[in-house]
Amino acid sequence: MLASKLSLETPVSKVPMIGPAFASRLSKLGIATIRDLLWHVPARYEDYSLIAKAATLQEGETVTIQGKVMEIKNVFTRNGFMIQQAKVEDETGIVDVIWFNQRFLTRVLHKGDTISLSGKVQRSGHKLQLESPDYEVIYGLPGQPLQEVFLQRAPIHTGRFVPVYSETAGITSKWLRSRLHFLLQQIGQGGLEISDHFSDDQISQIGLIGLIEALREVHFPTSLKNAQRAKERLAFDEMLFSQLEAKKRKEDWQKKTVGNKFKIVEIRDQLGHFVKNLSFELTSAQKKVIDEIYKDLAKQTPMNRLLQGDVGSGKTVVAALAMLAARLNGYQSALMAPTEILANQHYQTLQTLLKPLKIGVGIATGSKKDYTGFDVIVGTHALLTDKLNFSRLGFIVIDEQHRFGVGQRAKLTAKGINPHVLTMTATPIPRTVALTLYGDLDLSLLDEMPKNRRPVRTWVVPKEKRTAAYQWIRSQHSQAFIVCPLIEESESETLAEVKAAKTEYERLQKEIFPDLKLGLLHGRLKPKEKDAVLTEFRNQKLDILVATPVVEVGIDIPQATIMLIEAADRFGLAQLHQLRGRVGRGDQQSFCLLFTESEEGIGRLKYLEKLTNGLQLAEIDLKFRGPGQRFGTAQHGRWDLKIADFADLDLVEKSNLLAQKALEHPEEFPLLHKILETSKINIAPN
Ligand code: ADP
Ligand code: MG
Repeated sequence: MLASKLSLETPVSKVPMIGPAFASRLSKLGIATIRDLLWHVPARYEDYSLIAKAATLQEGETVTIQGKVMEIKNVFTRNGFMIQQAKVEDETGIVDVIWFNQRFLTRVLHKGDTISLSGKVQRSGHKLQLESPDYEVIYGLPGQPLQEVFLQRAPIHTGRFVPVYSETAGITSKWLRSRLHFLLQQIGQGGLEISDHFSDDQISQIGLIGLIEALREVHFPTSLKNAQRAKERLAFDEMLFSQLEAKKRKEDWQKKTVGNKFKIVEIRDQLGHFVKNLSFELTSAQKKVIDEIYKDLAKQTPMNRLLQGDVGSGKTVVAALAMLAARLNGYQSALMAPTEILANQHYQTLQTLLKPLKIGVGIATGSKKDYTGFDVIVGTHALLTDKLNFSRLGFIVIDEQHRFGVGQRAKLTAKGINPHVLTMTATPIPRTVALTLYGDLDLSLLDEMPKNRRPVRTWVVPKEKRTAAYQWIRSQHSQAFIVCPLIEESESETLAEVKAAKTEYERLQKEIFPDLKLGLLHGRLKPKEKDAVLTEFRNQKLDILVATPVVEVGIDIPQATIMLIEAADRFGLAQLHQLRGRVGRGDQQSFCLLFTESEEGIGRLKYLEKLTNGLQLAEIDLKFRGPGQRFGTAQHGRWDLKIADFADLDLVEKSNLLAQKALEHPEEFPLLHKILETSKINIAPN
């Protein structure tokens, strides 16, 4: 028994055998509490469930052997390798066991130990042996018969379906397994209290299994089918909680009131005048969305709207029109963008659009501050500094919202009195995701491109055509982006990616395009350096811009017409579509070349040759994402659920129905509401 009872919220450092060192490694996996640990589900299972006997071993089978160690020794092979040889005896005979170069084993395993071994039976010459098996010593009482020992002390790492967790530095599956096994045991013995937030009736009505059973079966399944059922239960909960959270955020938001409702009808003429003076005609999608926004702005409840529009669909001018309405109502606006490059670009655009109307536009980024007497301010997260004060902040725009956290968003909002918020994204949001994570936001869709756009002609280029492709690029006499491989999926770029880009830049300059001018762009450059490279490219002083995948976000250089993407198969389709959107912004025909070295990726990439709609591509991404496969997550940012899968429309709809029911009849779901109130579930979409 434990000294004190554990609960799901107990920090992992309080769990026996988890000291500060392991607690800190766990925290790198996002695991802080026992709840987090128990919900850390295996990536797959090793099937070690077949318990075989020495006398009846079959070549090629993966089996578990249970017996006593008769001998174990280090042996040097003729070619100088060290191997470990053991003989293990059960009631039917003796099994030969061999490991390669695991010297420590002779210190861990001893003659006389009761042992359980799982691995593959291989033929070596005329005899069968167990090769490199997983092992564990089982401690029985002195003199206790073998079978009784195994009955009383079921092995954890052998002799069953054994969970394998995704690998992370310093934490092995074996370690996780034994800690999880311990915790699950504590549930049975009353040392760890877990209550299901559904009643038995509700569970059978929904068609799930109970929570405790699910936790047991997901880590130590009695069959693969049961493991599946366990995942279904946990996935259901995960979806359910993220939907409940979204619905709760919506409720909270709707309790807010703005300072003054915006007058819209009264300023119609001025708005119309602005639209008439644009150098282009608004698309009907833009008009529709602006209407939706104006309706919101005229309300007492602040707007909380997500504007999704493909790259180049013209979101900025929509934001500018809303800013104009804010200004005409005596309010300031702020636009927050994820990078300095983007902020600068927006700054220029908004100046062009709004300055003629005597609207003061300011900027605040890490390297540039210019905002005396502004009506509209553009910036990066530098906008969040306490030094920057607003007198009447009434409208906020957040560009590429998935790059900002909830906290940053809240901090900006707090600078006004319940300002209206418009978030904008070019990331297509599949319906299931919108229902689940963005249930609190009203959605607007720019589903139409400005008329002057020509689709970017796209080709998948297999490796044998690489040289020809380079020649073709040269023959175009245009400007090209060359995007280097995505190496790790993370919100920001990695050092490895920077290095790869540098190497590729040098190779291209030296070996492929020695006579052309190349530039290099990556996220570790100083803002001034980035600006300098982009300006050179914009002013056509460079022919080719070699870049890490950071160019994904919003760079607008209309005369560049070629986008070459290396190792395209590492990206999701929607992400490639975003990258492709860096070209095709002017009136010239543009091209996108998707380089790939892998044969398998080609089928998926071919969709980009045919489709030009980001949302369709995102839906296809979801379908292609089999279990364990994770491409396409980078652009989803924190959309990634741990267990549930957004491709599962059934699950989304089922859990959405239940979320609705739980909110309408809280008395039927007391525990669920309690968890929701204390908000211990670690789900934080934007
Ligand atoms: P995104 O939606 O990717 O942010 P932008 O707002 O940057 O797109 O717009 C891309 C380009 O299209 C800009 O140069 C903008 O001036 C132009 N644009 C916007 N709306 C229209 C339109 N209705 N017709 C023609 N060009 C437009
Ligand atoms: Mg944009």
